[in-house]
Amino acid sequence: MMPAPDQTGASPREISLYVHIPYCHYKCRYCSFYSLRGEGPDYDAYLDALAVEWRLVRDEECLDDPAVRVASVYIGGGTPSVLGSERLRRLHRILRDGPAWGEPCEVTLEVNPESVTEELIGGALAAGYNRVNVGAQSFRDDDLALLGRESSGERVRRAIADTRAAGCVNLGIDLVFGLPGMDPEKWRASLREALRFAPEHLSCYLLAPEEETILHQLLHAGRLEPPIDEAAFLQYEAARLAAGQAGYEHYEISNFCKPGFRCRHHLDIWQRRPYYGLGPSAHSYTGDARWCTTADIHDYLARLREGPLRPARQRRRLEAADHRREAILLGLRQARGLTWDEIAAVVEAEATAHVERRARFLAGTGFIEIDEQGLRLAPRAFFVAHHVFVELLEAAEKATAGRGE
Ligand code: SF4
Repeated sequence: MMPAPDQTGASPREISLYVHIPYCHYKCRYCSFYSLRGEGPDYDAYLDALAVEWRLVRDEECLDDPAVRVASVYIGGGTPSVLGSERLRRLHRILRDGPAWGEPCEVTLEVNPESVTEELIGGALAAGYNRVNVGAQSFRDDDLALLGRESSGERVRRAIADTRAAGCVNLGIDLVFGLPGMDPEKWRASLREALRFAPEHLSCYLLAPEEETILHQLLHAGRLEPPIDEAAFLQYEAARLAAGQAGYEHYEISNFCKPGFRCRHHLDIWQRRPYYGLGPSAHSYTGDARWCTTADIHDYLARLREGPLRPARQRRRLEAADHRREAILLGLRQARGLTWDEIAAVVEAEATAHVERRARFLAGTGFIEIDEQGLRLAPRAFFVAHHVFVELLEAAEKATAGRGE
């Protein structure tokens, strides 16, 4: 949907913001995010640096243009809730200093159960955050121990109850499935517990430990039984069933919501609208380029303090092949899929027939659904989305193969 024109009659240029808070009290065994452990980081110095970076980004990316509107803000990490309510209030003020925010503007605060109190959430809501996402991961002590989280089922329950008690009316809960040795009945019990809180949003992520993580090393060394694909598939299907029966919309591979509560920030990313990331390791996308800010807190702080200069970043201009890959991959993740027009915008005219032929074949096998609007994954194929993606991308690249694009 096109944004409404502003008072000058021009359509606003909508952007999203992501702010990375790279601090955690501990390191989870499956974590590959940039996060720092340890006592006593100087959070105020970090907020000072974010304020400087935000000003530099606005200047260099021309974001103080009156046509710019901030449509969503996501404070992630790391563990943003370690900042406490006063600093969260300050962070909100820092971000408000700049382009106007849309009305409404979705402002998400990601929290870890261990640092949640009713006071903290109450303070954040009063400061202007309007969506809270609780990284529960599980309600079971044994799952949490396996994941290396210093939490417990009881702590997770209390954090969610405190978030609700503080007045949060847009609550998200994250769960993880596909753990080594995960018991199907216990997974269903975790799902029931999550749904009992009636969150507006529920994310169920498949555990996929990356190489540098402790969990990967344990699996590689044979000290943990590797998870079984069939078991993970059944857990995923159990999540689809439970969420569907509770009235949730399955709008993206890993995400479910009550009607009207899709996460705007996630949609901005999947629908390739511009977003700007602040903080070390944060990603940005402008429509024609992507970059990732240095994942080095010392470099990050030094440049902003001493220059001030924007922290080092790897910037990459997107080529036609990148647009094609991203549009197909991100489009397929969503239940709405891709329209034929969206496909035509990224696929060369000579490859269109290949894509249509492949799509008809995949529809015949039951992996996707096609109609005159476009194509989308069949619900039972969400779990194997990557295979469908590879099939369609190969067809889309047929015309360019050998041309060295
Ligand atoms: S809380 Fe999140 S960011 Fe921090 S270590 Fe655990 S998974 Fe990583």
